[in-house]
Amino acid sequence: MGHPLNVTSRLERRTLLRGAIAVAAASASPWRTATAAPAVDNAGGKIALTDAHIADLQKSIKGKVILPSSPDYNEERRVWSPAFDRKPALIVKVTSTKDVQAAVQFARTHDILTAVRCGGHSYAGYSMVDNGMVIDLKPLNGVTVDPKKRIARVAGGALLGNLDRATAPHKLATTAGVVSHTGVGGLATGGGQGRLARKFGLTIDNNLGVEMVLADGSIVRANPRENPDLYWAVRGGGGNFGIVTDFEFQLHEYDGIITSLSYAFPAEKAKDLMKLFGEMSAKAPPELTMNASLRTSDRGETTCSISGTFLGTKQAGETAFAALASLGVPTGNRIDEMDYVKLQSIADGSLHSERFGFGKYSYFRQLDPKLVDTVLDYVTRAKTPRTSFSLGMQGGAIAQVKEDATAFADRDGIYQCSVATNWAAGEDPAAGQRHVRELWAMIDPMGTGGFYINELYDETEERIRKTFRGNYARLVDIKTKVDPTNFFHLNPNIKPKPRPL
Ligand SMILES: Cc1cc2nc3c(=O)[nH]c(=O)nc-3n(C[C@H](O)[C@H](O)[C@H](O)COP(=O)(O)OP(=O)(O)OC[C@H]3O[C@@H](n4cnc5c(N)ncnc54)[C@H](O)[C@@H]3O)c2cc1C
Repeated sequence: MGHPLNVTSRLERRTLLRGAIAVAAASASPWRTATAAPAVDNAGGKIALTDAHIADLQKSIKGKVILPSSPDYNEERRVWSPAFDRKPALIVKVTSTKDVQAAVQFARTHDILTAVRCGGHSYAGYSMVDNGMVIDLKPLNGVTVDPKKRIARVAGGALLGNLDRATAPHKLATTAGVVSHTGVGGLATGGGQGRLARKFGLTIDNNLGVEMVLADGSIVRANPRENPDLYWAVRGGGGNFGIVTDFEFQLHEYDGIITSLSYAFPAEKAKDLMKLFGEMSAKAPPELTMNASLRTSDRGETTCSISGTFLGTKQAGETAFAALASLGVPTGNRIDEMDYVKLQSIADGSLHSERFGFGKYSYFRQLDPKLVDTVLDYVTRAKTPRTSFSLGMQGGAIAQVKEDATAFADRDGIYQCSVATNWAAGEDPAAGQRHVRELWAMIDPMGTGGFYINELYDETEERIRKTFRGNYARLVDIKTKVDPTNFFHLNPNIKPKPRPL
């Protein structure tokens, strides 16, 4: 009898040989593998992925595995923010729920650090990793509309533009954010604010049910009848609980007529403008959504503005903004009635941002004069270039939902405030970042203590806990049940309970 190797095929021998080379290389330097880039596990330890592992993964999916050696690697690893120029070991482009399942199982088998990517717009860079694996949902982007039932089925990798463009021909819509290349996956698990939110609620409020792949690779449905706890958690708890491969959204009748308005004034008008914004927003109908902001330009000049949209004709929009006449003649203004889908992509610019950014966010129940005075005093003294303070509105249908009806708790945070800065490559961001942190530290104590998890740059675990208020304990219980090892942790993380020893 000969050696067992004598009866193996040439292909098997090649595979065995390749495996042996990879093992030898891995033992010489655990970073070296035949084709895959250095990979890391969830504890930061090094993993040697071999050609055979990658081939097995490729065989198990209909989508494509992208490696550092692939010609499209550099394009595929680009996300919206230039701050996250990261180099994953592999990107798995999935085309079905089964592909997502296979990718999760592969990641679990090898314990690879794994990110989930839809539109790639995470401000914190959660959807791209160095040396880990990215489950890229982008090819999974179909949207189907049932106009009779007024329901849209939206795949977990779709972008907002896919959703808006599919529903508009039926004179139907649901709430989506204001830049069309943002991903439904991230937006609709964390919240979903947009021009229709005061009228129809947050995107999560229109979620009728989901299909998900959990951390153990199982495929489940979550809706009011099946896995209701999971359904509750995935409406506001972000990507903590699994990968949504399919959303069902409630649609609303909407003729698509919208008027966009913006009025700029010199900085001297800022106090009056903020006061007026408070008065107008307090009695605004749900069709009206407004922002008030103070911006300091590259040259340190501060201007203030009110902008917004009215779901209706130009004439109705002008009437809604008529009170602004009391501020005198604006230094600039724009009023455009247009089609909703067109407006939804008007701020798209390029798919990838050229500029770096940093911001802090808070919610406020009211527009306290002390808040306005603090902001005006700081901004006029500091004159920090390229910084902004901005107040947006929630309220309307968002506030009609109870704090514990979904994971998203800040229902009474009528005003959403952001303090932000941006800079180009090569510019020094230090002054802008200091401005953001100092001003935010002065005003945040006047707020609800929460922030919008989809607008997170860097936040502590304590602040994430605070933002979920009384919902946090239930979220921890659900997380412990569906993801006890915290496999999905590249997100505003809700940690599972430690496992008993
Ligand atoms: C230019 C720009 C405009 C924005 N405008 C708005 C706006 O108008 N309204 C608003 O509410 N927010 C807005 N945001 C914030 C936005 O909601 C978040 O950045 C959100 O995370 C983006 O989703 P994404 O799929 O593009 O992000 P990605 O970076 O792809 O994903 C972020 C995280 O979401 C989770 N995730 C993504 N897909 C899934 C899925 N299918 N299942 C489970 N988890 C998933 C994962 O944890 C992932 O790490 C904007 C952001 C940017 C950069």
